[in-house]
Amino acid sequence: MPETPLETLRTVFGYHAFRPHQEKIIAGVIRGEDSFVLMPTGGGKSLCYQIPALHRPGVALVVSPLISLMKDQVDALQANGVRAAFYNSSLAERDAQQVLARLHRGDLDLLYVAPERLMGEPFLERLKEIPLSLFAIDEAHCVSQWGHDFRPDYVQLGRLRELFPRVPLLALTATADPQTRTDIIRRLGLVRATCYITGFDRPNIRYTVVDKQKPFNQLQTFLAGRPPEDAGIIYALSRKRVEEVAGRLAAAGIAAAPYHAGLPDSERSRVQEAFQRDELRVVVATVAFGMGIDKPNVRFVVHYDLPKNIESYYQETGRAGRDGLPAEALLLFGYGDIAVARGLIENGGNPEQNRIEIQKLNAMVGFAEAVTCRRRVLLGYFGESLAEDCGNCDVCLNPPERFDATEEAQKALSCVYRVGQRFGMGHVIDVLRGSRSQRLLQLGHDRLSTYGIGRDLSPELWGGLLRQLVHLGYLEQDLASYGVLKLTAASRPLLRGEERLHLARPREKPVAPVRPPRH
Ligand code: ADP
Ligand code: ZN
Repeated sequence: MPETPLETLRTVFGYHAFRPHQEKIIAGVIRGEDSFVLMPTGGGKSLCYQIPALHRPGVALVVSPLISLMKDQVDALQANGVRAAFYNSSLAERDAQQVLARLHRGDLDLLYVAPERLMGEPFLERLKEIPLSLFAIDEAHCVSQWGHDFRPDYVQLGRLRELFPRVPLLALTATADPQTRTDIIRRLGLVRATCYITGFDRPNIRYTVVDKQKPFNQLQTFLAGRPPEDAGIIYALSRKRVEEVAGRLAAAGIAAAPYHAGLPDSERSRVQEAFQRDELRVVVATVAFGMGIDKPNVRFVVHYDLPKNIESYYQETGRAGRDGLPAEALLLFGYGDIAVARGLIENGGNPEQNRIEIQKLNAMVGFAEAVTCRRRVLLGYFGESLAEDCGNCDVCLNPPERFDATEEAQKALSCVYRVGQRFGMGHVIDVLRGSRSQRLLQLGHDRLSTYGIGRDLSPELWGGLLRQLVHLGYLEQDLASYGVLKLTAASRPLLRGEERLHLARPREKPVAPVRPPRH
């Protein structure tokens, strides 16, 4: 047995140094602790159980959902001289017998096994006679119905903790929002596990959120401000929107193509390959695009519409800057999008599922509305914390200016009250600014006392202020019914003049000018 994990890393795996946190995790597992490891794809989770497997007596059992993945891992381990094998339904009877014989002879350091094989009674019986170094459950989110890839076979794994109380158990995953995380820990009986949540930060990606006003113009301004050779992905919610944006970009002379699930396979692979080979500058896509994308020099990802949750946003923006060079993530954030996303959620799934998805959507909106460092909000969602503000997001680079907005807030709140708390943001702004729109005149809203009292501010500014009032709890926006605005209890003292309020000054520029980082 080698002396230290670092030595094993160098002599067996041929790497020079541990990635951040690997060493700590490995040491814990070697000591025999249960562990929960949340680390993004490519972060280096495998070594967290492969090295302990070589430092503890007995064989390590690794549960993995994909047969093809098992074979790749085992091949790689064998190439490094590690005694590894897999045991699943793809093996011929004779090979399976051979693996079992090696298992009983103590001739294996790691055995990869499919969950249904592992939890079958005959196999569990065998294991009672064999010294085990650890259990590693890869893709542990498969055990949770809240995750995106639930596998009933994984549920049985919940018995392992009881059946083998002395064998350390390690659960690993790349995708776990707070609910799924808690669920995995509960289902696998990992109550005493040390949790490691790490590696989510992508410091080279600059996060920017702007108010969505004229999205196509905003997109063009953004593209015009970038070197013409920079390639990127633009995500939109619907196929129709994807086609429309791609068409308009192409008409404007930009090498752009659409990509969505409604296109023939051949067309999709053509687009993907052209993008990979730098023949296309921009792919406008639905979420269908990206799984197979391994293009290191994607310089920007634009969200034309609001993603459904932070996990998707993180994954999609994460396709930018894989080469470690500076990259941009731009989100065009419009309040109308929240209602659309909500509608999509409510149209499908069961009520319990919907409730979860609405919560996730709310977290996404919280990110978009944040007036604190975006990276902190993002990493905080995954349970990771940042020691200081990042200096590389729109909020850090261009901190919002605050001003005494008491009077404006009072105007806005009174106006919401005067229109009977039955209208959304657009109408309230029209009344404030004294619009002559047909609908407004028909409603007689030009006779309200608040009609025209906010002419001095632009619609964008009013929008920005109203959104903050919602965000801060002075107004409620009923997203289930067209975004109708209502007063809350918190708005009374403000309306009565008993409280002063400071708000961030909304930005009027379509794309906020980003100053260079302070270093
Ligand atoms: P994950 O399972 O988290 O997606 P992997 O364990 O497959 O990630 O690791 C991703 C890649 O990083 C692999 O090619 C792996 O060999 C490499 N890797 C992991 N740890 C290190 C390290 N300490 N030094 C260099 N490369 C590493
Ligand atoms: Zn920041």
